[in-house]
Amino acid sequence: MRPTKPTKPTTASSVLSEAELLERHGVLPSAQRLAIAQYVLRTDEHPSADQVFAKVKRALPMVSRATVYNTLNLFVDRGLLRAHVLAEGKVVFDPNLAPHHHFIDEETGAIHDVPWSALAVSNVDALEGFDVHEYQVVLRGKLKKARST
Ligand SMILES: [Zn+2]
Repeated sequence: MRPTKPTKPTTASSVLSEAELLERHGVLPSAQRLAIAQYVLRTDEHPSADQVFAKVKRALPMVSRATVYNTLNLFVDRGLLRAHVLAEGKVVFDPNLAPHHHFIDEETGAIHDVPWSALAVSNVDALEGFDVHEYQVVLRGKLKKARST
């Protein structure tokens, strides 16, 4: 595995078109899957399945909820997306495949990526009897001020 630059989050979608991406991951790029991919593989909003459905329905009114749910699960299975449980048992989808942490804005519910290098968690090796291979920190709070980007 090659190391990723900590400052620039890498998504699988940064270079390739959606159709190429799906094909590379063994997913047949149907019109519905492409419409879903165009949103969910580009967004940094960490949407839930219902939010993806609402968004995709605007571009593709005939799409069904089941198609969106099945497609999201397929994308996760094929390594195009990650599913995170970040709040109240809610599953959100994230195209940022690089290790990173999350900050949840308690006022708006917005979920922001926190670079992996921004936090140091020490003593994970002290968890006796467990072999820790992954961890993710979820921070909660408020933004100090509106950001311009
Ligand atoms: Zn994320």
